[in-house]
Parts: sequence; structure tokens; C-alpha cells
Amino acid sequence: MVVGAEKQEAGAWSRQALERLARDGLPPAPHNYALYYLYFSGENKELNAVWDKLAAQGKITQAQCDALYDKYLVTDNELAFLKDANSILDNELKKVLDLLNASTKETDQFGENLDAFSGKLNRAGSIDTLREAVGKIAEETHAIAQQNSKLQQELADTTVQLSEIRSDFDRVHREAQIDPLTEVGNRKFFDHEILRTMTEAQEQNTVMSLLMIDIDHFKKFNDTHGHLIGDQVLRLVARTLVENLKGRDVIARYGGEEFVIVLPQTRLQDAERVANQLRAGLASKHITKRGTNEVLGVVTISIGAAEYVVGEDSDTLISRADAAMYKAKQTGRNRVVCAEAETTKLI
Ligand code: GH3
Ligand code: MG
Ligand code: MG
Repeated sequence: MVVGAEKQEAGAWSRQALERLARDGLPPAPHNYALYYLYFSGENKELNAVWDKLAAQGKITQAQCDALYDKYLVTDNELAFLKDANSILDNELKKVLDLLNASTKETDQFGENLDAFSGKLNRAGSIDTLREAVGKIAEETHAIAQQNSKLQQELADTTVQLSEIRSDFDRVHREAQIDPLTEVGNRKFFDHEILRTMTEAQEQNTVMSLLMIDIDHFKKFNDTHGHLIGDQVLRLVARTLVENLKGRDVIARYGGEEFVIVLPQTRLQDAERVANQLRAGLASKHITKRGTNEVLGVVTISIGAAEYVVGEDSDTLISRADAAMYKAKQTGRNRVVCAEAETTKLI
């Protein structure tokens, strides 16, 4: 999070980044912008050293930019960084809009004053010299108005450009958290959401539960029908789970054929009920091959459910749900097993 003086500094880095991009002839695409911003922030000394060497040889090229981005920006910090950059861009946009509004008002006011002035003169049957003077003022006003409208146009262009950058940022931010195959959240998204929900449960003194879901005999399914159909089934499982969840519940792909669901404000008993609905919902579907309608059969899932115990960390909660899921596998699959709370006594 950027605050106070830091925010001003960040705004300056943002402007420097945009200006330098324009000078290097590179588009202000999010990845380029992110890299340039990082450079001007001076946060990564190694990046700055490599950059300075490249810049000494001439303008930074798109290929160099891509390589630097991959090396220095594809990290876990990227999401946090993008969030900050987004709020900076928001500020820049507001500033530009304010400028635009102020300059419109000024021009309008000036035009109105002049109209009133020349009206009075006309009614007074003014002498030639005065007319000439008014003519001059009119010319000047026109020039100012034109200048202002040029300024307005420039500002409007900048506004459009900044809006585009912002929506690019939003897209990159969203994409960085989504699993491309199943279109549910990815592991990064899950790591963030489980911590957020655990903190919320602790702070608000409420409960939360976690479901760990694994597709049954999926290796056999792949071996029988092929990996591509396996992928389609993964998508179908994800879609079925999403369709059976409520708005505040969070689903993510945990790994290969494993999904996790965070259930805020849900105790174990209710989590078990939700899990059984999800399990039964999928088991009732008869999967057929698109095009040929060949029956592929039924896909089932095993689920481990665990309720968060205040004080435990996310790894403990996840491994309790995981252990319950394995118990569901051992006891026949296509079933839900609830995790025991840790029995360690705290006295
Ligand atoms: P179990 O009931 O014990 O979970 O059996 P399983 O075969 O599902 O378990 P195992 O962990 O042995 O195998 C998981 C399989 O899931 C391995 C792999 O073939 C498949 N799988 C993992 N990720 C993907 C993927 O992205 N696409 C496809 N098509 N298959 C995947
Ligand atoms: Mg598995
Ligand atoms: Mg499996």
C-alpha cells in the first residue's frame, strides 16, 4: 500500500515511466509499464544495473523489455505491485479529469465575459477605436480558446490512454489469479483467499470451513479416454462445482485434479452438507462425448472437510482437510469425510 509522501513519489515514478516509454518508442502496455515503474522506483538494484548497461547502448527494445520483465517481475510480488500501480493510475486519471474540467470552465467563463462586454459596446454605439480594441480581445480569446481546446484534446487523449492502461491492468490482475483450463481461481488466488477468510473468521469471531476435493480414479479415466477428454472433464467438474456454490464461497484448482473450496461463516456440519450436495450433483451427471454422444460414464469425487480451529495456521487446516480426503479414498471414494480437530491440549 502506498501512503502520503510515498504516494507522491509513486506518482512521479508513474509519470517518469510513461514519459520514458514514449521516448523509447514502446507502448505503455501493463508489462512494459510495470518494468519501467520498477526501474524508476529503484527498488531492484540488480534490475537497475542491467537496465543502465542496456540503456547506455541505445533505446531499450521490446525484446529486452520482455526478457527483463520475465526475470525481475514474474514473482509473488507482482500482484501486490499491480494493485499499487492500479491505484496510482486511478489517481493520475482523477488529476487529468480535474484539469480537463477546470480548463473547460475557464474557457467558458472567458467566452461569456467577452460576449457581455461586446454586447454593451454595441448598444452604446461605440467609436471605431473601441471596436478595434474589442476585436483584438476577441481574436485573443479565440486564440486562447483554441489553445485550450488543443489542451483539452491532449488531455482527453491522455485520459483515453490511461483508461486503456487501467483496463489492461485489471485484465492482467484477473488473469494472474485464474486457472486457464478450468477458469476457476488458481493456487495463488487460493493462498490469498484462505488467509483472508481465516483472518476474517478470527477478527469477527465467526467460523469457516475448507473442502479438499479430488477426482476419483482420474488416471484410469485419462488412460481410457485420453488426456484431452480428461481436460474437458476437469472443466465440467469445475463448472458443476461452481454452479452448486453460493456467492461468497470461493473455489480454486489446488493442483492437477484437485480442487479446494473455502466456505466462509460455515461450520463443519454445514460444510459436510454442502460437500455432499456437490458430490451427489456430480455423480448424477452422465457424461457423454461431444459430437459422437458416446457415453463416458460417471465421474465421482472424494471430499475432505475441515473446520478452522482458531490459532492454527493455513497449512495445518489444509493438511487436516487433505487427511480427511484420503480417508474418503480409503473408505470407498465418492464420499465425504470430516476432519477431527487437532487434539493437542493447550494447557
Ligand atoms: P484417486 O481416486 O486415488 O485419486 O486416483 P487418481 O487416479 O485420480 O489419482 P492419482 O493421483 O494417481 O492420479 C491423478 C491423475 O490426474 C494423474 C493425471 O493423469 C490426472 N491429471 C492431473 N492433472 C491433469 C490435467 O490437467 N489434465 C488431465 N487430463 N489429467 C490430469
Ligand atoms: Mg490427486
Ligand atoms: Mg484423484
